[in-house]
Parts: sequence; structure tokens; C-alpha cells
Amino acid sequence: MKNKFTLIALLLAMTTSLYAQNKAIDPVNLDQKVDPGKNFYLYANGGWLENNPIPDDKSRFGSFDLLADSARKQVRELIKKTAGKDHKQGTVAQKIGDFYSSGMDIEARNKNGLKPLKDELKAIEKAGDNQEIMKVITDMQKNGLYPLFTLYGTADAKNSEMVRTHLFQGGLGLPNRDYYTDTDERTKEIRKKYVEHISKMFRLTGEKEADADKIAQKILGLETRLAKASMTPLELRDPHKRYNKMDLAKLRETSPEIDWKAYFETLGLGDPEVIIVGQPDFFAEISTMMKEVPASEWKNYLKWDLLNSCASYLSEDFEEQNFAFYGKTLTGKQKNQPLWKRVQGTTSGAMSEALGKLYVQEYFPKEAKERMLELVNNLKVALGERIDNADWMSDETKKKAHEKLSTMNVKIGYPDKWRDYSNLEIKKQAYVENVMSARAFNRQFNLQKINKPVDKAEWHMPPQMVNAYYSPSMNEIVFPAAILQPPFFFMDADDAVNYGAIGVVIGHEMTHGFDDKGRQYDKDGNLQDWWTKEDAEKFDTRAQVLVKQFNEFIVLDTMHADGQLSLGENIADLGGLNIALTAFNKTEQSKSNEEIAGFTPLQRFFLAYAHIWAQNIRDKEIVKRTREDVHSLGKFRVIGPLRNMPEFHAAFNITEEDYMYLPEDKRAMIW
Ligand SMILES: [Zn+2]
Repeated sequence: MKNKFTLIALLLAMTTSLYAQNKAIDPVNLDQKVDPGKNFYLYANGGWLENNPIPDDKSRFGSFDLLADSARKQVRELIKKTAGKDHKQGTVAQKIGDFYSSGMDIEARNKNGLKPLKDELKAIEKAGDNQEIMKVITDMQKNGLYPLFTLYGTADAKNSEMVRTHLFQGGLGLPNRDYYTDTDERTKEIRKKYVEHISKMFRLTGEKEADADKIAQKILGLETRLAKASMTPLELRDPHKRYNKMDLAKLRETSPEIDWKAYFETLGLGDPEVIIVGQPDFFAEISTMMKEVPASEWKNYLKWDLLNSCASYLSEDFEEQNFAFYGKTLTGKQKNQPLWKRVQGTTSGAMSEALGKLYVQEYFPKEAKERMLELVNNLKVALGERIDNADWMSDETKKKAHEKLSTMNVKIGYPDKWRDYSNLEIKKQAYVENVMSARAFNRQFNLQKINKPVDKAEWHMPPQMVNAYYSPSMNEIVFPAAILQPPFFFMDADDAVNYGAIGVVIGHEMTHGFDDKGRQYDKDGNLQDWWTKEDAEKFDTRAQVLVKQFNEFIVLDTMHADGQLSLGENIADLGGLNIALTAFNKTEQSKSNEEIAGFTPLQRFFLAYAHIWAQNIRDKEIVKRTREDVHSLGKFRVIGPLRNMPEFHAAFNITEEDYMYLPEDKRAMIW
């Protein structure tokens, strides 16, 4: 039986690989009527864009999202095997199964309504004064909610070996502070709709319309005060601004109206000794607000925070209202995802590594890891050479850059050590209760790390996630199993395709160690300057070229891209392309000019890159991402960097007259 199964698997694997070879660059995805010199993004992706309209339940749909969907289907198969069956109490299968089933039981959810939250609501209602309000906030935070601000344990940016207590701004129902302060028509409309949404949510709890409207207005007022004291998305990218180390005495001085001693004790931290405060002004403001805002207003704010964070796990009326604002109004989605996707997403978030372990057992081939390691090593060599050849950099800084590159750690596929879920309690109970239980468990997991050495084996993304990251404090690049699939990674395609797709992704993550933010961390992951003053200035001048280029792009109507906010990502895209190309130029294939499916190796390299950023996107999502997301839109991730690359110009015969061409003195060149 087992042999037969293996044989079928092998046959399947063979067919997939043949498919990959043929379809790695599929002419169907291109639009060869478009001049590649005018708009290479459309030339490379026009067919794909035409054939892959945005589904109603999405605000953006790209080849990235298509792969994420297929990973979700894989996870669905895993869940199906466990849900609805009897498992021994306390096993991972029982927990995944019961969690998922409780979410899918929409009848029970509708019958329960708000009932499962009655204890939490009562606790808020009972608070008599602001001291008691602060106690409720503390308890909510202990259980994994984040009203008012955030506390978490993570590596100390200046002592990367140790996990320390971090306090960070938070408490907003809209995505960031700009939504409360901007005065353009679009934002004003969103604020108006936000107030209506809060009011409707309160009405669902039984509040009268007139009262609910007043409550909602007050909540917007309170959140606006928080917003005004918060840092902008751009300020948040500055690791020095966010690093304000304090002890308990200093924190009390900054924020005197809050009983921090009681707060930390309730969280089980005692005196944390080292507290890194992200935004001292924010914590000063919440202290003042604790003096000025009456308890009655805080109560409504906390109720709102509770409702807002639980809406997706309650009855359908709450979930639908929540979607009407956060899905439709903010991102332009037409309808909500089907129930199974919503519940699966939550299950996956609650028990990410438990599902991840099952995922890699089923779907991740060992050979993929070996192939990836080979690619990563080739890219490391390529970046090393590029550092040597950077004529603008002094030998002194180059030496440090080499040290940082050679100590950069690599993780591929899945963690060597899996997380232990034995203390997580999931039962046949209301969905929202299971969600709360998982939140409290994950919260505890984070809190217990504080004031201990950093666990270097830990992963910050689960294997089933289509993504990758660079961690500055660990100086490491991480590639979860799910990204090692087409269109990023083809087990059997030609090198040009793999270097152009996953190769650039690897190079992108490596470059994050040397982008405008990452370069401020040394080889050990400490926020410590290792650049000569002159080299740092030269770096900034070069980076500004890229800022200017991106600022000129128009994303929608008259709205421009934000070159400063997206700088780190744009440096990483351009660096990733250059590094992957340098590595590709060492392969056998690069030396031949043999065409596959009508394209030269270099053309295939650039087409494979362009293809990973094919995406259709709704207008509202364009606006939202441009103001919050540090990544540029897919279109500009292709057009932006490629205009700077002479190898690209040569590959597609692009000349000075073409838009995709930038003259040498206008080009950005960093890594
Ligand atoms: Zn990135």
C-alpha cells in the first residue's frame, strides 16, 4: 500500500516538474502587443492581469496571492483530516479540530450572540474610576488584547542577545494615525464611516441609536488624541527614535498617572528593570488622558476595543458589520471570504506552528531545501563581490559589511525545534472563547521570554505562509516552506527563472541587512553604527536618488507613491535584482544564448522577476497601501528598479527614447 502511494506521488511529482519546465515563463501571461520599453510590467504580465480578475472577496489579487490561495487549499486538506473527528483530548489534532469546528458552527455562534463575552463586558462595566479602568486594561492585555497601547517582549536593539520589555503606541481602530489627522476628502469620508460603524456595532449590543451615535463620536475623539500623540509611519521606520530605554522610575516620570508597578506585576513581570519605550510622548499623553478622560468614556472605549477585536468570531450580524467597514469601506472588497477561509485563517493564526508542522510533513520536499541552500550560498558570494566592487565605499566600511554578510544566518523551510502547544486549552466551546484562549496562550508565550536570552532557533513566520523576512536583530534571512513553490521557486526550471524569481527574493532579504534601516545594525544585530561618516553620507545620497524616482510615480489620480516610506523595500528590490543577476551570470546557462520558448536566458530572468509582482488591485486598496505599506505596489516594484538596470535595457533592446530607460546620471546604484 505504501509503495503504491509513493509511486503515485512520484508520478505526480514528475508531472508537476514537466509542467514547471514548460510553464515557468508562459506566453499566455504576457502581452506581447505592449512595447517592453514603454511598460515592461504590462508586457510581462498583461495576459495574467487579464485572466486573473480580482475575486469579490479580495482587494488585491496577484501571483503572490494566487500562491497564498493554493497554500491555503493545502492547509484546508490538513484541517479536513482532523476536524469533525474524535481525537484524544489534549492532542494537537483535537485542538485544531475543535477550534476549527467551533468556528464553522455558525448556528451555535448565532445562538450565542454576545453571550460568550458577558464576563469581559461585566468587568468593564464594573470599573468605578480610572484606577479600576487601568486594572481592566491590564487584565485585557494579559489575555492577549491590546487596548490603549502594546507591550511585548523582543530583542533589545542595542543588546540583541536579550529579550526585553517593549512598550509601544497603539489603541487605534483605524489603521494608523494619519487616518485621524489627514484632511483630504477621502480620509474625511473614512472617518465619517468609521463613526457610523462604531455606532452600528453598539446598536448590535442593544444600545439605542441616539446614544450609540454619541458614544461613537466620543470614541473617535479619544482615539484622535491617541493618534495625535503617535508617531507617523515614516517616523516608525527610524530605529533610533523608537529606542528609549528606561527603568521603572523613569517610566513613572514620563507617565505618572499610570500605576506601572501594579501593571507589570499583574502581567507577571515584577519590576522588568529594562523598559524600552517606543514613543515617550505617546505614553505621556495617555497618562494625561488618565487624569482628564472620565471613566464613563473609557468604559465605552474598552467595550469598543473588545467588540472590535472579537467581531469576526461572534454571530453573523457582528461579523457582517465588521466586514462592511474593514472590508468594503477600507479596502473595497465586495463580499466577505467564505466561512471556511475565515475560520481557517484564524485557526492558522492561533496555532500557526502546530499546523506548520503538519504542513511540512505533507508538502515540503527535502530537495527544495538543498536547492535553496545552494542558491543562497551563490547569492552570498555575489553580494560579497558587489561589496568589493562598490567604488563609493571605503575599505574600512567594506570590511564591516563583509563581516555582517558572512555572519548572516539562513533559515529555510521550517524550524528545527517546534513550539509546544500542550498548555493551550481548546475545547468544544464557543468559537470566541477558543479564540480568547489561544490569544491568552500566545500572549503568555511572549511574556515568558522577557529578560531571558533570545531563542535563536525561533521563527517569526510559520512554514505555511507565502512570505520571507530579514530580522535585523538576529541578522538572518528566513524563507518559509510555502514560498518555495512556483512562481517563486521551480524545482526543475532553468536557472534563469529561479534566479529571477526566488533568487531576487533571497537577494531582497539579504539587502535588507544593508538598506537605510538595516545598515544601522551591526553583524551581531545591535543598533550600532559601523559606517564611516563619509560612507554613510554617500549611501544617503545614493538612496535619495531612489526616493526621488519613486516620489514621481503616480499611483492613482493625483496621488503619488511615497518614496521615503518605501525606501527600504525599494533598495532591497534593486539590490536583490543586482545580486541575483551577478549570481546568475556565473551559471552555465548565462553563457549560452539558447532560447527557451522564444526567450533568451536574460529575458527569462527579467520576465520571471516581473511575474512575481503581477497584481490586480482595487483603488481603495491602492490608497490604503500607499499610505501604510512600506512595500511599493507590484507595478512599481517592476518598473521602478528595472529602469535603473543596463542589463535589462540590453536584454530587451531598450533605448534612450524609452520610458523604461534611465540615463546613467539618473540611475540609482546602491548594492
Ligand atoms: Zn522586504
